[in-house]
Amino acid sequence: MTMPAPETTAAAPADARLDLVGLDRDELAAALAPLGVPERQRRMRAGQLWHWLYYRGARDFDEMTTISKDMRARLAEAFRISRPGVTRDQKSEDGTRKWLLGFADRNEAECVYIPEDDRGSLCISSQVGCTLTCAFCHTGTQRMVRNLEPAEIVGQFMLARDHLGEWPSPKDARLLSNVVMMGMGEPLYNYDNVAKALRIVMDPEGIALSRRRITLSTAGVVPMIERVGRELAVNLAISLHAVTDEVRDRLVPINRKHPIAELLQACRDYPAGNNARRITFEYVMLREVNDSPADARALAALLKGIPAKVNLIPFNPWPGSAFECSSKNAIRRFADIVNDAGYSAPVRQPRGRDIMAACGQLKSASERLRRGRAPTSPLAAPTSRTP
Ligand code: SAH
Repeated sequence: MTMPAPETTAAAPADARLDLVGLDRDELAAALAPLGVPERQRRMRAGQLWHWLYYRGARDFDEMTTISKDMRARLAEAFRISRPGVTRDQKSEDGTRKWLLGFADRNEAECVYIPEDDRGSLCISSQVGCTLTCAFCHTGTQRMVRNLEPAEIVGQFMLARDHLGEWPSPKDARLLSNVVMMGMGEPLYNYDNVAKALRIVMDPEGIALSRRRITLSTAGVVPMIERVGRELAVNLAISLHAVTDEVRDRLVPINRKHPIAELLQACRDYPAGNNARRITFEYVMLREVNDSPADARALAALLKGIPAKVNLIPFNPWPGSAFECSSKNAIRRFADIVNDAGYSAPVRQPRGRDIMAACGQLKSASERLRRGRAPTSPLAAPTSRTP
């Protein structure tokens, strides 16, 4: 099957063939058994396939010229190589690019590519919708539909690579050099699938992205944090957003289950956290909610003993949100106090606001796109309509 050149592509129609994308090496080897590949050859064959799938980005078995023609035909009969469909492809005036992905069941999630001077980051979604009802996040008002599968998670990376024309995997100077698990959903509520996808992304014989270039952001699923450090050792980001349990209970309701002290202890214990690889604390700037000088001082005090940096995120408003963004002055003052306490505290430049691709805006775009369309899934039921 030849896939059309990547522009906007329909979600893959139902296909009974097994998708090779998202399988780990053992599963890939095992999948070859029914094709009559002798056991002693399976690992070698799986290695060949891995190279074509993840190093070269092949989307068609015919490209796999190190595999015999006959074998290629048999592979194509039994297997497919998937990519998420692209329902919409938008480019911001600042170069940010957002893909609205359509999966085979017609559910949608978004994925954002953010080019910067020294890097290009891909913001990857882990779920369709979200179970966390963070008060300032638009995605949080969308009900949780389902977890994304490993193929749908690693597929976001591969699709971005297709569009950037960045195959085979370059050694350095990559357009797509960093991954942030900061899209829709809570990655630690879909840990197994996220971990499987990230292991594929990190595999040295394929995409080979260093764990140092991957950041996983969590709202604070404390019991999973230790495992992330032990099994994946990627960079950790924590959506902190408040310095007291009282305020954080309201902003990030998972705090009622795992309060600040417990969360910060997990950060102190995070094995991959050290001075060279500090933990990022995300802090959304909400006018008169969490942006006072006293809050800034309390934040610095809380972070004592943690190799930390702070990422201040100007609040991105959405229709119906009960919050406003802090003033420029308040953000500056806040950043200065945290900086003076010895923590780097850059203000995250909002990127892609004109295409609704900035933090917390991902739902809005999907909703807008769905308006006037027949609902195709629970996600697609419009929650508001404008003429
Ligand atoms: N569930 C994970 C992954 C999402 S990351 C987590 O909470 O960390 C997305 C980041 O953007 C989080 O820090 C989130 O709190 C923040 N965010 C959400 N809505 C926002 C908004 N309207 N403005 C600015 N940042 C927002």
